[in-house]
Amino acid sequence: METTEKKSITQPDENGFYGEFGGAFIPELLALQVEELRINFEKCKNDVSFLENYHSLLKDYVGRPTPLYLSQNLSAKYGCKIFLKREDLCHTGAHKINNTIGQILLAKKMGKTKIIAETGAGQHGVATATVCALMNLECTVFMGEKDIERQAPNVGRMKMLGAKVIPATSGSKTLKDATNEAIRFWINNPDSYYLIGSAVGPHPYPQMVAEFQAIISAEIKNQLFEQTGNSLPTKVIACVGGGSNAAGAFYHFYDEAKVELIAVEAAGEGVYSGKSAATSILGSPGVLHGSLTLLMQDKFGQVTEPHSISAGLDYPGIGPLHAETISTGRVKSIPITDNEALNSAFELCKSDGIIPALESAHALAALDKIAIQLDDVIVVNLSGRGDKDIETYLNEELKMKN
Ligand SMILES: *Cc1c(COP(=O)(O)O)cnc(C)c1O
Repeated sequence: METTEKKSITQPDENGFYGEFGGAFIPELLALQVEELRINFEKCKNDVSFLENYHSLLKDYVGRPTPLYLSQNLSAKYGCKIFLKREDLCHTGAHKINNTIGQILLAKKMGKTKIIAETGAGQHGVATATVCALMNLECTVFMGEKDIERQAPNVGRMKMLGAKVIPATSGSKTLKDATNEAIRFWINNPDSYYLIGSAVGPHPYPQMVAEFQAIISAEIKNQLFEQTGNSLPTKVIACVGGGSNAAGAFYHFYDEAKVELIAVEAAGEGVYSGKSAATSILGSPGVLHGSLTLLMQDKFGQVTEPHSISAGLDYPGIGPLHAETISTGRVKSIPITDNEALNSAFELCKSDGIIPALESAHALAALDKIAIQLDDVIVVNLSGRGDKDIETYLNEELKMKN
């Protein structure tokens, strides 16, 4: 007899579709590489020794489990329990390392020696350069020329870790263009491994990145149980650039209908200001970087320029799992402006002594936009620390004073 167990939304179909979105829309020349990747990922994800390596590096190298911290001050302010999942305490300063550890082990298993990656703010570039140094593999990072100028400290870190940083000089000279360059390079260098940094790209990348980040919600469940006697929160809030930290923070809660999942997008200077990255509101279905998803495009299908004060959210699309779960209403999306995020960042510094990444500050700001009950247990995923954003913070504080 066939079982009637409902399939989890976290599992795409055999063609990589989450409902309406996903798939692998790739040039013919990449088909073999992507298929090789898919087969090896399927093998590794169920391989005991692979998983042992992954978990042991997460523990001893990354510093996991990251704390689940009950903020007394935020709890008092909002009149419920507010927990912060401290991904900011991961080695290299953000959740991105969880994924690069998983993928570098996969690349090694596949016998690859040359790693390529794209980066926007440089966080994924640094996380990739880090694991390549650890594994003694060659690392090439593509980065928009404009981002190279904006994010000098991270460019320095990558170089110090031994990576080659190649400027993308086409288009808007930012993340989208760096991704195009990386894909082009991959086509011409089929022996290299393309280590994608978010839950985007052709199948199996969105699924693979989500599964390597799922450790975040696995830990939240255990830690909540220890601290409250119940492993389920009432709400989980995470920011979405491409969607890897959100996919990880939501992963083990997608099928728990009672847990509200809230994805926070960058509204820049205002959703309809023309300077925004609120993809789930402004976007429509289209193909970007290998998957059918929601993306910001003009009436001719040309991708429009996103804007956010935080480079990590400055992306014109969202991963297909988020496109699907937001479209079906399972996940609610909330837009947060540059200024709202800045205010929340300054507030957390003062209330809790934590300087959050600008991206994470968007998730915090959503606390002001949702209805809160006394018995709410809310987890905000603090995806990264704010060291990389200090210059922006100081400039903005000066502007506010003048
Ligand atoms: C890169 C980044 C993000 C956005 O990427 P996702 O894939 O959407 O998680 C969010 N927060 C921090 C700190 C980042 O570095």
